[in-house]
Amino acid sequence: MKDSYGRTIDYLRLSVTDLCNLRCMYCMPEKGVHKKEHKDILSVEEIEEIVSAAVDLGVTKVRVTGGEPLVRRGIVEICRRIGAIPGVEKLCMTTNGVLLKKYAGELFDAGVTRLNVSLDTLDPEKYTQLTRMGTLEDVLSGIDEAFRVGFDEIKINTVLIGGVNDNEIRDIAALTKDRAIHVRFIELMPIGECADWGPERFISNERVLEVLPGLEEAGVSGVARIYRLPGHRGTVGLISPISSHFCPSCNRIRVTADGRLKPCLHSAEEINLRGLHGEELRDAISRAVYGKPRRHHLDEEKSKSARNMNEIGG
Ligand code: SAM
Ligand code: SF4
Repeated sequence: MKDSYGRTIDYLRLSVTDLCNLRCMYCMPEKGVHKKEHKDILSVEEIEEIVSAAVDLGVTKVRVTGGEPLVRRGIVEICRRIGAIPGVEKLCMTTNGVLLKKYAGELFDAGVTRLNVSLDTLDPEKYTQLTRMGTLEDVLSGIDEAFRVGFDEIKINTVLIGGVNDNEIRDIAALTKDRAIHVRFIELMPIGECADWGPERFISNERVLEVLPGLEEAGVSGVARIYRLPGHRGTVGLISPISSHFCPSCNRIRVTADGRLKPCLHSAEEINLRGLHGEELRDAISRAVYGKPRRHHLDEEKSKSARNMNEIGG
């Protein structure tokens, strides 16, 4: 599936809920979000139908995200059904890891091939402050459990925030030393909760290169520039939507928990997929892909997305 700029679109990010068991300061309102009625979020069958249609059009990689995907009732069954769709080559999940200890084994058995765990600090107190309620130990034991049940590598997503965790770059990168942990530093994007934060909060990924001059280049993977610390087993990746926007290599579309397709994370445009079936559904997806904007303009203005990140899934 190609868009009008010739980009191949083969990656679907699917938010299965906008609810979350954390309230990360840059992502979620402190009070949480209004729980949608059951009928307002995609059912397992609708999810299966939408993913199948996207796969018919050329999608090969699906990421299940949220809100927090592990708080969605029936999440293991959702993963099993997606994983069973012929043509889904990679089934990934992005999770905050809080419930991973409980679910890692079932997710692995259900066919999840890759896990990304979001972790912004290794300081237990700071973790609780930043997430407004989480316990660091839950995430760390979830990661251990994921390795134990058979995941052979795990990605850690870290959003750097000035004055909060930008002093932890070295410690977080050190997680890559002995295990196949791949840390991805992601630049904070001005969207939703943090759209009006001051410039001091937004840390360019160039800072990582300054703090870790020993990083050796190890290629490019999707939208990440990959590096490795000498002798370390895992890698350090830089995802820099602001300082070097990667729109020319964008390969993804997003579907929200209420069934809206977002051709671009930072555009207000959404296409309702609910109630569409067969040819009509495939047509709607390919038209949306064709209309995908060329690039975002976060370097000049705030995101135009009307949604918070917890509704889109990153
Ligand atoms: N709850 C899951 C988690 O935290 O991994 C999945 C959803 S969360 C919205 C997905 C990713 O988006 C997380 O890694 C989070 O750090 C990132 N994220 C949220 N708001 C962001 C922002 N304003 N800029 C950059 N990344 C953001
Ligand atoms: Fe929840 Fe993930 Fe947003 Fe944190 S980043 S509030 S864990 S959805």
